[in-house]
Amino acid sequence: MMLDEILENNKKFVEEFEGEKLSHHPQKKLAILTCMDCRLTGFLEPALGIGRGDAKIIKNAGNNIVDEDAIRSIAAAIFNLGAEEVMVIGHTDCGMAGSDAKKLEKTMLERGIPQEEIDKYDLKSWIGGFKDEKENVLDNVDKIKNHPLIPNDVPIHGLMIDIVSGELEIVSDDR
Ligand SMILES: [Zn+2]
Repeated sequence: MMLDEILENNKKFVEEFEGEKLSHHPQKKLAILTCMDCRLTGFLEPALGIGRGDAKIIKNAGNNIVDEDAIRSIAAAIFNLGAEEVMVIGHTDCGMAGSDAKKLEKTMLERGIPQEEIDKYDLKSWIGGFKDEKENVLDNVDKIKNHPLIPNDVPIHGLMIDIVSGELEIVSDDR
């Protein structure tokens, strides 16, 4: 199991790490909603020039706000933690682009999820797939901007990062 390897790695890490105390307030007063894609790990932050303690980073499947949870985190970053700027950052080659609800249903059934449970959900909207990564960034910038509990004086930018080169593209500039 990976758990054994992780625990072993952690033991080594703690032995070597000096330990440091940082504020839970993001030093760059920034909140980012981005994708859980494993290729963004250790890649997005250096590509943006942000380090430990600099920003609140909210990750989910496809940087797509399906229920209120990502909004809750963005609101907490703004109201409790002093974030003054928000960025939605999508990426090229996102695994959530073109995700297929029919295929998902089939896989769920194969894994033993009862049909009656699946039927309680509108799988297509529940899984939050989308056609185009850039359009998805714009949609989610709008969702944040139009949310009644998000203040109007917080700029909400939309960006795309190239998963190969790390180059950023502004999709929606809220300066
Ligand atoms: Zn993704």
